[in-house]
Amino acid sequence: ESVVNRIAAGEVVQRPSSAVKELVENSIDAGATSISVIVKDGGLKLIQVSDNGHGIRYEDLPILCERHTTSKLTSFEDLQTIKSMGFRGEALASMTYVGHVTVTTITDGQLHGYRVSYRDGVMEHEPKPCAAVKGTQIMVENLFYNMVARRKTLQNASDDYPKIVDLLSRFAIYHTNTSFTCRKHGANKADVNTIAASSRFNAIKMVYGVSTARDLMEIVASDNNPSRAIFDMDGFISSANYLAKKTTMILFINDRQVECTPLKRAIEVAYSATLPKASKPFIFMSIRLPTEHVDVNVHPTKREVRILNQESIVNTIQDAIESKLMSSNS
Ligand code: ADP
Ligand code: MG
Repeated sequence: ESVVNRIAAGEVVQRPSSAVKELVENSIDAGATSISVIVKDGGLKLIQVSDNGHGIRYEDLPILCERHTTSKLTSFEDLQTIKSMGFRGEALASMTYVGHVTVTTITDGQLHGYRVSYRDGVMEHEPKPCAAVKGTQIMVENLFYNMVARRKTLQNASDDYPKIVDLLSRFAIYHTNTSFTCRKHGANKADVNTIAASSRFNAIKMVYGVSTARDLMEIVASDNNPSRAIFDMDGFISSANYLAKKTTMILFINDRQVECTPLKRAIEVAYSATLPKASKPFIFMSIRLPTEHVDVNVHPTKREVRILNQESIVNTIQDAIESKLMSSNS
């Protein structure tokens, strides 16, 4: 059974950056306005995420890391209308099968917090009272210690840290009311260090620099025809002046950071059709759809999504981008 659990867990948590994504989303779900990440050895030795969210109640600690334990889903029907980012109750549990997880947490109004470690879905000991500041800190140590092949592959590949920095940068420009930091363990300097920004544009400027922000244009698109699609989108896209060697595509659908390959392709087509000589684009897009139109269950890591009326939405967005690029270029 434990081998099966471990294999399943390795599917949910594929690399250190996927663990970071799950932990940060939990912090956001907990209402945190400040989230700090510390990483050692590309996340294989240590991932530590600290937040100032609402904390975890003492009575929830024993089952926190059991599979399918979630405070975010009370009935199967909720799956249809789920609004928060987590809902499967699998992320934390999975981490305990492929790493050593220690949780320190305090809920509002308590005099002290609790610390407890987990392995293979269960607590290793009773929660120990400890001093704690507001919120939750989750430490994942020795990720994939029991998956030799995975560990080797990750050790040989380039370290996951740049991916983690990238992930945090994207969260930072979306959650403009939250401050984020990300640093390597022992480093003085943070590689992501944002304060709550007054606007999305200012957040982009803070994270991606003035020179990127300078070449961005605002874009919006929507369709409210139920027979085609219902959605609305707002974002920023790079103009003809922008110079970059690779595409930056930051996509949020209903507050979740996701990927949608058909949309990405359509955007690249829009650029090459209208600005054949331009560099690779920078795109930030936030799309809102009825929650029941988004299928986030395509993959256990919840990154690639499928959406209802995808073709129509993708076409509308592609048209909007083409006309924006054409009008700005003439
Ligand atoms: P999910 O997010 O899908 O519910 P997870 O395995 O990611 O599942 O987390 C399990 C539960 O642990 C969450 O539903 C939440 O109640 C609690 N939790 C995890 N991280 C935090 C956090 N940083 N602050 C408060 N509660 C948390
Ligand atoms: Mg979660």
